[in-house]
Amino acid sequence: MTPSDSEYTRRKFLATAATGLVSAGVLSLSPGAAAAQTSKEESSTASGRIVHRTLGRTGINLPVVSMGVMNAGNPEVVQASFELGVRHFDTAAYYQFGRNEQMVGSVIGRLGARNETIIGTKILTPQQRTGLSYEALKAKTISSCEASLGRLKMEHVDILYIHDVRDSAPLNDPGIIDGLTELKKQGKVRSTGVATHAAMADVINGVVAGGFFDVVLTAINFTMADDANLLAAVRNAGEKGVGIVAMKTLAGGARWPNPASRQDYTSSTITTAALKWVLRTEGVSTSIPGYTNYEHMREDFSVAYDLEYTDEERSFLSDNSIRLGMGFCRQCRSCLAACPDKVDIPGLMRTHMYAAQYGNLFEARATLDALPAERGLKKCIDCSTCVARCAHSVDIAGRIDELKTLYC
Ligand code: SF4
Repeated sequence: MTPSDSEYTRRKFLATAATGLVSAGVLSLSPGAAAAQTSKEESSTASGRIVHRTLGRTGINLPVVSMGVMNAGNPEVVQASFELGVRHFDTAAYYQFGRNEQMVGSVIGRLGARNETIIGTKILTPQQRTGLSYEALKAKTISSCEASLGRLKMEHVDILYIHDVRDSAPLNDPGIIDGLTELKKQGKVRSTGVATHAAMADVINGVVAGGFFDVVLTAINFTMADDANLLAAVRNAGEKGVGIVAMKTLAGGARWPNPASRQDYTSSTITTAALKWVLRTEGVSTSIPGYTNYEHMREDFSVAYDLEYTDEERSFLSDNSIRLGMGFCRQCRSCLAACPDKVDIPGLMRTHMYAAQYGNLFEARATLDALPAERGLKKCIDCSTCVARCAHSVDIAGRIDELKTLYC
């Protein structure tokens, strides 16, 4: 049990959660009716009710705060989330070699809550889908989903994402499209999506143009407030009926040691301000903050009751030096051309985020191992040529140095 868990025990949680036990009504709208009110808030926060939104043309109606399960290893926290009012749980085949899906499935099964929950999972990482024939990719799409259903012990998933999409190729791949279509016909998949944390605007625009996928799970947070292309893409997707689920919502910033620039603000203020910013962004339906304990669960879900900023939150968000000081790597890939050895710098920055900010060494190792050897950590010669190319104040050299200490 972590110190945070011991401060805020499950017993205390259950006592206070009773007031939050409301029916989330995730399946309450027909798809047709729901499509007409995409991104429209359904309930007033003044009465203390949870704010819900509809996930585009899927018709799925959800609280605005969901659970990103990736970093969580405690099934009690997943159960407590459901008891608090969370109705959407996001996992992936890739997380913890499938154990993450198993944990979600076992909690939801034990609660008998499958009909009240929305389960999203992800299959086919870039490495798993590259270089396959049409037949092989279609078969792999189907078998990967079936393997996830086996681990979840479920008959269907509500959202099946293609994992880590960085360009338009998977959006139009006949093997993937036909595999997903077959899964939908068989009733194993309710809606399809892509997850993206690089070139997000292009991917979202590609999904809207292609018309096949229903949902995009995208990285978005307040450090990207100046990214007009991304904000326009998210807004347009919402208008066109593509559901937007937000991830990387905290920019990794609230729950790791705060540098001097942020010490005027509590971790709670940073968390709630960041989540509210995302949820006030036009087109976003729900968010999947990756909390791992009761305290953070309660903090994140408090936002679902009230999206109005407090004065402190406004002050935090309006401080431009804080935005830059977060040093969030938005995976824009602008630094790549500067590297004489073609090192995958964005991949290394993601590795660092998982290790240092999320404390998820499994994900960090898997991300590092997925990089081609000729573009990996050992190829970096510490020339720092790339540093000047980053316009987002990412401490590339410092983070690579830390990674080398950890892995070399
Ligand atoms: S390190 Fe900077 S330039 Fe490179 S991908 Fe990240 S944000 Fe973009």
